[in-house]
Amino acid sequence: MDDDDHRWSDGGVYVVDNRVEAIGPAADLPATADRVIDAAGMIILPGLVNTHHHFYQTLTRNVPGTQDAVLFQWLVTLYPLWVRLTPGPARGQAPRAMSPARQAPEDFGPS
Ligand SMILES: [Zn+2]
Repeated sequence: MDDDDHRWSDGGVYVVDNRVEAIGPAADLPATADRVIDAAGMIILPGLVNTHHHFYQTLTRNVPGTQDAVLFQWLVTLYPLWVRLTPGPARGQAPRAMSPARQAPEDFGPS
């Protein structure tokens, strides 16, 4: 789908140097590419950019009783832990918190 809400059941995306150069009917796109991903029957979504990250919450994501909790219960359970958090542990787990954001886009796509 483009900005004008056009949808193509036979559409494609043409990317050059990790930038979308063209979208539209596959017949209108370049016929060759370094890599071709057959996404027939799939929906193509743009990449998402995480504009903020709660680093400190990485430390508490496995606290029992919070994985399936609704938001308020999750906050009530974890807030007492977060208010006692000191800079050292928060800083120390920063690489773990950032690890999903450092993965290359091709790690997520079909191959
Ligand atoms: Zn947030």
